[in-house]
Amino acid sequence: MSSEVMTVTGPVKSDQLGFTLIHEHVYLDLMRDTWDGRGYLNDPEIAEIELKRYKDAGGVTLVDQTSGGLTENDQDLLFDAELNHLKHANAVRDVAQKTGLNIVLGCGWYRESYYEPRLWRMKTEQIAEEMVRDLTEGIDGTDVRAGIIGEIGAHFNWLSAIEERVLRAAARAQLKTGVGLTTHATRGPQGLEQLDVLQQEGVDPRRVAIGHSGGFPIHRYHEEIAKRGAYITFDRMGNLKNANEFDANRTLNLIKMVIDAGYIKNLLLSHDVCYRADYDIYGGSGYDYLSIHGLSLLSSKIGLTEEQFHTIMVDNPRRLMTGED
Ligand SMILES: [Zn+2]
Repeated sequence: MSSEVMTVTGPVKSDQLGFTLIHEHVYLDLMRDTWDGRGYLNDPEIAEIELKRYKDAGGVTLVDQTSGGLTENDQDLLFDAELNHLKHANAVRDVAQKTGLNIVLGCGWYRESYYEPRLWRMKTEQIAEEMVRDLTEGIDGTDVRAGIIGEIGAHFNWLSAIEERVLRAAARAQLKTGVGLTTHATRGPQGLEQLDVLQQEGVDPRRVAIGHSGGFPIHRYHEEIAKRGAYITFDRMGNLKNANEFDANRTLNLIKMVIDAGYIKNLLLSHDVCYRADYDIYGGSGYDYLSIHGLSLLSSKIGLTEEQFHTIMVDNPRRLMTGED
């Protein structure tokens, strides 16, 4: 059982992780979905400003779940002041050093529409080996190591054949390295199918967070994830900043139902900053919405205590990433 978590700037003791955002993105390229700049985070100056806000608001650790495919267009993505191309992992380390944040970087592959063609020709074991290499040696020829596996996705609300293989590879890499594993499962209950595959491979569900599960607004689904021991993730909490009353109340009620059902230890909250409009400077929640407003919002609306907020924002991410109790 590990008492350290690997960040892009080196290992951090688990009791030093503090307030942790479990699902965010520093630099990513979502333009395979839509060819416009909205899902394109590539500006080191803005990234530094936005991440500093989080640090200034008491943030300590941030998990950047930008997995393979989301860095696909790296050659066009990041440049330094001299217009030298920066490798993605090095750019994340730069901003971690500038802001003083612990940034844990993900690895693996996002979802089928983002996969590199070579994946179809690789054995499951080879895909796993690459993830193990990212976790133990460094990502993409750098010495920056990943500290978590994910986000590992399903494009639709089922797993495609290749997505299942990548997920099996992720499971095997998890078993070899002992890190946490996070998925992307949006607008459907495919998180349960992901858990089926991971459990078949022998992964302990307590080391798994089902991504975006708050976005499929059915309590029965959340309860089933928690019953198996995995984490339910309400990772677009920044949406509450500008949400209409219906959406805000629904999200808050779903969180309350998870807590009332006795599953607070299976709950994770984050913002999943992934569009330019999510940044503070463009009117979004930024990375600091939960650290500034999270407790007051959740205590006034659903009666959450400070201790419970600590469980969700400090203890749960630490337990997912280390396997500690
Ligand atoms: Zn994400």
